[in-house]
Amino acid sequence: MKQKRSILFVEDEASVQEELSAFLRRFSGDRLYIAQDGQEGLEMFERYRPEVVVSDIIMPHLNGVEMVRKIKEIEPDQPVIFTTANSELSLFVDMVALHVEAYLPKPVDLDVLGESLQKIFRRLEMQERYERQRTILNEVVQLQSNYLAVLDREGNVIFLNDRFSQFLQIDGVQEGQRATEAFWKMFYPSEIHPLQSLPKRLEELRSNTTEKECDAVCLEHLKKSFKIGWSEVEETGHVIVTLVEVTKMMQERRHFERRAIVDELTGLKNRFGFNQKIVEEMLQAIEKRKPLSLIVTDLDFFKSVNDRYGHLVGDEVLVEFARFLLRHAPDGATVARWGGEEFVVLLPGHKLEKAKTLAEKLRTLLHQERLSSHELQLSASFGVARQHSFEETPTTFFERADRALYKAKESGRDRVVTEDELSRLQASSNSSQ
Ligand code: GH3
Ligand code: MG
Ligand code: MG
Repeated sequence: MKQKRSILFVEDEASVQEELSAFLRRFSGDRLYIAQDGQEGLEMFERYRPEVVVSDIIMPHLNGVEMVRKIKEIEPDQPVIFTTANSELSLFVDMVALHVEAYLPKPVDLDVLGESLQKIFRRLEMQERYERQRTILNEVVQLQSNYLAVLDREGNVIFLNDRFSQFLQIDGVQEGQRATEAFWKMFYPSEIHPLQSLPKRLEELRSNTTEKECDAVCLEHLKKSFKIGWSEVEETGHVIVTLVEVTKMMQERRHFERRAIVDELTGLKNRFGFNQKIVEEMLQAIEKRKPLSLIVTDLDFFKSVNDRYGHLVGDEVLVEFARFLLRHAPDGATVARWGGEEFVVLLPGHKLEKAKTLAEKLRTLLHQERLSSHELQLSASFGVARQHSFEETPTTFFERADRALYKAKESGRDRVVTEDELSRLQASSNSSQ
């Protein structure tokens, strides 16, 4: 025999006790506990918790039926074998009600007793194996660093691992409806009734995440980001959803995205960031039929600052010039660093004339500024352009402003030139040739 199991044997008749206990020991080894009556049997059960109980019926103090009833109150699944004599048939109905494993007539046929025990042992073994598997499976599921949910085919949550239920702040699937609600709230955070039209949602989630290219769908919830995995069990229709937390990765990505569009020295948008912005603003201007103008400005003789005071002072000047522009830019304007000591101010709602007035104001205000720890007085030149037609691109728009700026430099610096003035100047220089 493979495995021995503890047995409690309750029998008041000495001769029967002697005969059967020798046989039972083959199944129990040392762990055979023998009681003389029901009362003692119950005490021994509580003390030793045997895996199987073999009991006589009629005994002093407490009979077998009463004893087993009490045992089953403690351990409802306790395997029990009754040995019964004909004279005990009056208790038969009570006995049956206890759902015991076997009733063996006395004198007990040892083969039949052996078979009954084997049957119980096999069942216990199967239960143990099942329990072990369940434990392992549970460990695997719970130890995962991922969030794991199982949905039924209607989209109801039927399982959450501990990590997931802690995250959703619910106490496992016991909460049924609440688990389902919390799960779907993650995906539809602004919905008041996330459980309405669940099949449609399930379909949406499925189509968003099964395709490989889309499997990096990210959700923002409690400042966490996730990559969603999705698989369906064909036989049951269960859907297994795994969320892998990628919060740190996304934070880093945002950090790099920001760095890509922000100028490190001044904190203004850089050329790349500005190019994104100007596209948005040009489209808006077309859509709302509003004017849009652009000032491009460049510090005059900035190189000499670097040459005389060093690069660090030059940097200081650039930072302070950026602040100066921000301070005087109207609401809704975008100030950006185009590169070097060249800056742009994008002005939604500004016609050319209004933008020119602002440029003039900036030019004269700059005279009063003292830049850097060396209190340098600098001037700047300005080119101003307005958005033209629908065919205009950010490049053509910017180029006109930049050409006007070039003209301002050419004409002596510390001045404002608009695109209209540029055209007039060009026309007159053409006609004078
Ligand atoms: P202009 O009036 O014609 O604009 O003359 P400028 O000296 O201002 O212009 P130029 O293009 O001759 O020189 C620009 C200088 O700006 C050269 C470059 O080294 C310096 N520069 C560009 N970027 C930075 C920066 O980030 N920090 C510092 N300190 N200097 C910079
Ligand atoms: Mg310059
Ligand atoms: Mg320059």
